[in-house]
Amino acid sequence: MGRMHEITRDTAIMTRHVLRIDTSAPDLSFVIPAYNEAETIVETLDRVSRKAGRLVPRSEIIVVDDGSRDGTADLVQAGDWAVPVRLLRLSRNFGKEQAIMAGLRHAAGKAVVILDADLQEPLRYVDAMLQKYREGHEIVYAVRAHRDDESWLKRRGTAAFYRFLNIGSEVPIPAGARDFRLMDRKVVDALCALPETNRFMKGLYAWVGFRTFAIPVELQPRGGGSTKFGFRRLLRLGMTGLTAFTDWPLRMWTGIGMVLASMSILYGLFLAARTLLLGHDLPGWSTLAVAIFFFGGIQVMSIGVLGEYLACVFNEVKGRPGYLIAQDVTIARAPEC
Ligand code: UDP
Ligand code: MG
Repeated sequence: MGRMHEITRDTAIMTRHVLRIDTSAPDLSFVIPAYNEAETIVETLDRVSRKAGRLVPRSEIIVVDDGSRDGTADLVQAGDWAVPVRLLRLSRNFGKEQAIMAGLRHAAGKAVVILDADLQEPLRYVDAMLQKYREGHEIVYAVRAHRDDESWLKRRGTAAFYRFLNIGSEVPIPAGARDFRLMDRKVVDALCALPETNRFMKGLYAWVGFRTFAIPVELQPRGGGSTKFGFRRLLRLGMTGLTAFTDWPLRMWTGIGMVLASMSILYGLFLAARTLLLGHDLPGWSTLAVAIFFFGGIQVMSIGVLGEYLACVFNEVKGRPGYLIAQDVTIARAPEC
């Protein structure tokens, strides 16, 4: 047994020596979530791998294929990239938030950059992020310089969402922040240690704290393909964010109930006094009908809000993992001897 152990150890040392495998952590990991990005993934990886090679001596790229059905994963595997590329293929589409988490959990770098796979985020900003990181900032994130590329409705909707989200939120959650950011290992470890499964990443980045710096970025139009965030997906993400970071929509019903009950008592007293003074007055069915509809509506609405929060509790309690990994491969060039 002891002999075998020795042989294994010697072989390991020899292999490392011969192939000159460096087992220390990479300086930088790039995490790239990709869902049906066959049109842009090759160009993205080409650019990122060349950039990574120029920025730091040791880097890795982690592509999280979030259940693509257009051959994105095959394109990643078929490529010959300048730095090691690890492909995590999720078993189906779990959504960007989960894809990012899968990437963060597998990233080994001393710092991690999250980047989209659609060429919207120019890589020149990574230099600025690294610069700020070296000055001592633990999170350097991209914030949209403007939203001119979005429709009026989307701009107003986003603004309203962040206003609601920030009412009573423990920490301010910035409105224009992107997932595009550089984070120190400490921050990544903190995010990975959080226990919740359903995640609203933009809230969590703010919640973990740390020394943070925002860089305004000018986004490019998509390099190909189309946006994966339609109205329904955005709405679902918004609901996840609201339920994860606020509790005022739950609590406000106590106040509303109290105000309505007080108003009803006052109105009752008024009606009683009027009947005593002026006699019995039968008409008034319209007041009754309006009151019934009004209170009915209020009750259904409050039950609906309760339902939203309960659904989140239900999902968390089930304890299912946020994603499943179907394949984990690293595509690396043979080391030059
Ligand atoms: N994405 C993902 N899973 C999804 C939806 C999106 O991994 O379910 C990835 C997508 O491939 C892209 C990034 O998240 O790399 C941002 O998506 P998109 O560009 O569609 O969002 P937008 O820029 O329009 O907000
Ligand atoms: Mg995009």
